[in-house]
Amino acid sequence: MLTAYEPGPDELGALLGDQPAYRTRQVWDGLYRRGLRPAEMTDLPAPLRRRLDDLLPAALTEVVRRTADGGETVKWLWDLWDGRQVETVLMRYRGRVTACVSSQAGCAMACSFCATGQAGFQRNLTTGEIVEQVVAARRAATPDRLSNVVFMGMGEPLANYDRVWPAVQRLHGELGLSARHLTISTVGVVPGIERLAREGLPVTLAVSLHAGNDELRDRLVPLNRRYPLGRLTEACRHYVETSGRRLSFEWALIDGVNDRDSDAEELAAIARPLRAHVNLIPLNPTPGYAVRGSPPERVRSFRRLVVEAGVKATVRVTRGVDIDAACGQLAAASATASAGPAGLAAGPATRRRLQLAIRSGGPVAAAGPDAVLS
Ligand code: SF4
Repeated sequence: MLTAYEPGPDELGALLGDQPAYRTRQVWDGLYRRGLRPAEMTDLPAPLRRRLDDLLPAALTEVVRRTADGGETVKWLWDLWDGRQVETVLMRYRGRVTACVSSQAGCAMACSFCATGQAGFQRNLTTGEIVEQVVAARRAATPDRLSNVVFMGMGEPLANYDRVWPAVQRLHGELGLSARHLTISTVGVVPGIERLAREGLPVTLAVSLHAGNDELRDRLVPLNRRYPLGRLTEACRHYVETSGRRLSFEWALIDGVNDRDSDAEELAAIARPLRAHVNLIPLNPTPGYAVRGSPPERVRSFRRLVVEAGVKATVRVTRGVDIDAACGQLAAASATASAGPAGLAAGPATRRRLQLAIRSGGPVAAAGPDAVLS
């Protein structure tokens, strides 16, 4: 379906074929520089505004908008034209404003601790659906300037490369965001990382590592069975050398699962030769996943061990826990509201069983990503 941010300039020109050429530039400018919907472009004749509104409808319909952290975090749940739902988060930090966008409705990667992964894959988002999330976040950020975009919402961006990369180019070329402030996050789609390395735009690469040995990572991130750590770190090394950009590793700290001293040592051994920065993220509570984030004291000592091993590490402030701000949580909360809070009701004994199951190889994920990664 054609929506406002789907067509490129040539396609928009063709849609406005009966209009003078300057109208295309005017509409393009209205969409991207001014962030207006066609109906708001009062410098266009009213009949043309109405026609454009029909031709180029909004891709996103707001279902829920929640704020937290004293207004510093805003999260949207959007309806798409076919009834699928995705999420976007806006986060204000000192000196920067970041939008976290979704690249797919659902996700096929089936990471065992992730609300989106548990819900399964629905479809890839289009370039227009991705760009429109950023435009919406930019509007909401006003009067502050949106400075960063991270592809860390629902979905695996590199499994939707053909739509994500044109979106990145639009964000850079038309919305004026610097390449170094655009971050593509991946759980380790090696062919996608190799493709990124061949692009001319040096975006920041963030790899969600979560485990420093294949045995544990196979369980937390099923994609690891296809692209194990050796292949992944080699692709990372190549990206760093080719792009000149710094790499970051994301590590969701899960109580009793990947927060042991030996996990910190394994992480440091991988990150140090790549000069990667490590972001430690205490896991947000996820409906249906009974283990929880590491307690603050464990987080501190885990970070200390990583830093002492010569790696820069930051503990990421967990934003918006009270508004389900981890990826897929708002949609999961919406979907489970009628089904009952079975996952959240799990007690310490269940949590302990799950920790043991993950460590010892029990089933924690329902499906792997092979269906969409051919
Ligand atoms: S953590 Fe990311 S890649 Fe893994 S299932 Fe969730 S959305 Fe997909």
